[in-house]
Amino acid sequence: MLPITITRTSTPKEKPKDESKLDWGGTFTDHMFLCDYSTEKGWHDARIVPYAPFPMDPACVVLHYSQTIFEGLKCYRRADGALQLFRDKDNFARLARSAKRMGMPEPDGETFREGMLKLLDLEQDWVPRNRGTSLYIRPTMIAMDEKLGVHAADKYLFYIILSPVGAYHAGNVNIFVEDQYVRAVRGGVGEAKTGANYAASILAGKLAEEKGCGQVLWLDGVTRKNVEEVGSMNIFFVYGDTLKTPALNGSILPGITRDSVLKFAEHLGLKASEETIALDDVLRDIRNGSLTEAFGAGTAAVIAPVKSFIYQGETYRVGDGKTGKHSQKLYDTLTGIQWGTLPDREDWITRL
Ligand SMILES: *Cc1c(COP(=O)(O)O)cnc(C)c1O
Repeated sequence: MLPITITRTSTPKEKPKDESKLDWGGTFTDHMFLCDYSTEKGWHDARIVPYAPFPMDPACVVLHYSQTIFEGLKCYRRADGALQLFRDKDNFARLARSAKRMGMPEPDGETFREGMLKLLDLEQDWVPRNRGTSLYIRPTMIAMDEKLGVHAADKYLFYIILSPVGAYHAGNVNIFVEDQYVRAVRGGVGEAKTGANYAASILAGKLAEEKGCGQVLWLDGVTRKNVEEVGSMNIFFVYGDTLKTPALNGSILPGITRDSVLKFAEHLGLKASEETIALDDVLRDIRNGSLTEAFGAGTAAVIAPVKSFIYQGETYRVGDGKTGKHSQKLYDTLTGIQWGTLPDREDWITRL
């Protein structure tokens, strides 16, 4: 592990006063963690410094060819004031898989995780207190070569920034089923947590918003017949006491929330299945009432119940359009463990 130096800010910012009004991802703490990479030196110069813009050459590879990856996790404050993380080692494991797919060097997971813990220690007062609020952690790795040629870069920057966030309300929304644009194809970068996937999604998101839909449901890139995932969440369908989610097929992001929901299902007496899910079946089953609930699952929004799907101008309302009992139960279980009001049976929590 590399040594980590700390330079404290001399001008701390004012912390948000009203936790009920926290926006999502627009406020940042006083410090950030940085670490440089070069082919010659490997990872070096791990440091915590005051949060500030950093200089980038206009020819910087990441700006032109999107060689970038990121992670997203949260630091939660328990009722007793103590801080904890949920499955953070899994985020660093996924960062390493994303780096490999994007032709980037292997992250120094040990140093980066230690950097995150030291940064959180320094910024602990920034973790909000209200239930539902948290400190969002955004590890990011970008290619820094100043060259327009397309090839794997020699220089990279890894950094972590922190943002106090309120509850992210992605739930009980209409979802636009996108049958023209696709997010990812098998063999592409859909499995990697990279900005490139989001770049491909922005136009569809904008058009969906114009049609009154808060989210987009992506179909598979080849046949556009099978369901993949929703924006920054994986998708689940509930049939009575069975949960169904699309199997990880190479173009779906393997969500940690998704994995947690699959593991909880058993404890909650639900059956869970990962399979290829045809959109036609989903729409038919909403109409015949056998599909009773649908929800998105992701770190930011936790469990986001789906009100309805809009497909080719038709609205398919799920159940009564309100939060279903299994969605609620899964939300309560997940957030209970994350905020420390339920026992951590799976050993998923890191106490700080
Ligand atoms: C991050 C992300 C998810 C959710 O993953 P979690 O680990 O549960 O936060 C789902 N889909 C995409 C495209 C993502 O980027």
